[in-house]
Amino acid sequence: MNSSYAAIKKYCDEHHVTLVAVSKTKTPEDILALYNAGQEIFGENKVQELLPKYEVLPGDIEWHLIGHLQSNKIKFIASFASLIHSVDSWKLLQEIDKQGKKINRVIDVLLQIHIAEEETKFGLSYDEAKEILLNPELKNLSSICITGFMGMATLTTNEDQIRKEFLGLKNFFEESKQLQTSNIKLQTLSMGMSADYKIAVEEGSTMVRIGSAIFGERVKTRSA
Ligand SMILES: *Cc1c(COP(=O)(O)O)cnc(C)c1O
Repeated sequence: MNSSYAAIKKYCDEHHVTLVAVSKTKTPEDILALYNAGQEIFGENKVQELLPKYEVLPGDIEWHLIGHLQSNKIKFIASFASLIHSVDSWKLLQEIDKQGKKINRVIDVLLQIHIAEEETKFGLSYDEAKEILLNPELKNLSSICITGFMGMATLTTNEDQIRKEFLGLKNFFEESKQLQTSNIKLQTLSMGMSADYKIAVEEGSTMVRIGSAIFGERVKTRSA
């Protein structure tokens, strides 16, 4: 099937990097074709788009939520999401913990760090992330486990800048590793998308989130 998938999968395997196939806007049939080619981890950025896919697709798919998450949507994915990449507030962490406790499940999450120049992207500053990691209340959130960080680089053709942003997050990741506790177990560094995943891997990414390079360009919708 999809030859770009095979090449990307091979690259990830060779570099010991986990590949999340980003399937937003793609149909269950598209996802199933990739699943049948061996892909098990899929990423979606909206809960309302993820749910109907989760319902019809094979139960052993690992679903990652990679986009901004609203508190009132957590309950719909708490029972099955295998990783939430986009935690960007203490409050959201508390809400995820609350839903996890209700069903007696520990939910793995990444803190999303703002590393890009653009103002519009979500994410914590390094200081805000540090504050969360050092919060004495964190140990009480026993139904979440912070397993790493996620970051998105600036959308630019300037490779040096992208590289610098990824390297900054890698350094923060390595520094933070001394903080391992009962619910801080840093092992995953989610960085790199279609346009910049090789740079991300060169700078220490352990997990890439790739959509258009696998599935082809997404159809852009424009609201009037
Ligand atoms: C859409 C998206 C991706 C994948 O983007 P591509 O450029 O299509 O690879 C990765 N991460 C997040 C958070 C996304 O929303």
